[in-house]
Amino acid sequence: MPIQKVDKIWMDGELVDWDDAKIHVLTHTLHYGSGVFEGIRAYHTPGGPAVFRLTDHIRRLLQSAKMLMIESPYSVEQLVEATKETVRVNNVDACYIRPLIYLGYGEMGLNPLPCTVNVSIAVWPWGTYLGEEGIRHGVRMKVSSWRRQDPNMIPPAAKVTGLYVNSSLAKVDALKAGYDEAILLNTQGHVSECTGENLFVVKGGRIITPPLSAGALDGITRDSIMVIARDLGYEVVEENLLRSDLYIADEAFLTGTAAEVVPIRAVDDRVIGEPGEVTRKIQEMYFATIRGEVETYKGWLEHVRST
Ligand code: PMP
Repeated sequence: MPIQKVDKIWMDGELVDWDDAKIHVLTHTLHYGSGVFEGIRAYHTPGGPAVFRLTDHIRRLLQSAKMLMIESPYSVEQLVEATKETVRVNNVDACYIRPLIYLGYGEMGLNPLPCTVNVSIAVWPWGTYLGEEGIRHGVRMKVSSWRRQDPNMIPPAAKVTGLYVNSSLAKVDALKAGYDEAILLNTQGHVSECTGENLFVVKGGRIITPPLSAGALDGITRDSIMVIARDLGYEVVEENLLRSDLYIADEAFLTGTAAEVVPIRAVDDRVIGEPGEVTRKIQEMYFATIRGEVETYKGWLEHVRST
């Protein structure tokens, strides 16, 4: 699905026209994958457009930068405000938000420390990442032959642009083989996560997700789902999973800002089936939450206009 153009993109403190939001071909991050980024969503709510857990996303962005020893020229508060401003000026209601901190033009070579640091924030309307059909009836997953990179290669806790080569390799393999999405194991053979989503299974009444030490990103949707599931009365645990645990799961689903909450209907052709009750309940509560319908979780919605 091509990106849907809007009016303005925030670049280093200024709102520039969409078509002028350009960089030089010798930009450091373009060559070495040395940038960090976020994926955030804003939703339409009764109180106007609101960004889901914006401050948490921006905090994670600056933590990613810290891990790469990139010094952000802007604070969490400044980037939160800049994000809200970008949503406001573009008059988009529900949208996807892509902040990026990248090393700019001026230096080349593998020492990033002398590089200039640039920041951009783009927003555009973006529908469901894995399709409406996937949200309703579940997606078919393939365990990838590509492994999640070891934490001592690139920290998986950081959303580093270059890290996503690993995700793209797995995604393309899965799509070419006729599946919707890939699941990556870590170098020890434990389930880690998907290409851009965390993963949960339901087995014997318990909800299980791999621990962050299995190489998964500390997903903000993952965290929201753990809170929602516990509030619904379910037991949620972080435990290592083998690929065979996926094959015999009672239910399974994946979570992420772009994908939201998507049931898994099969893994490597072992059928799990239509979404089960636990998945449905959690999914319903998540969608009600982002629409601003659940009092308990209204604090997760950060409104772009003061009301
Ligand atoms: N894992 C990876 C590799 C991701 O890129 C994402 C998307 N940011 C996630 C998990 C889910 O994280 P979140 O719920 O914060 O979007």
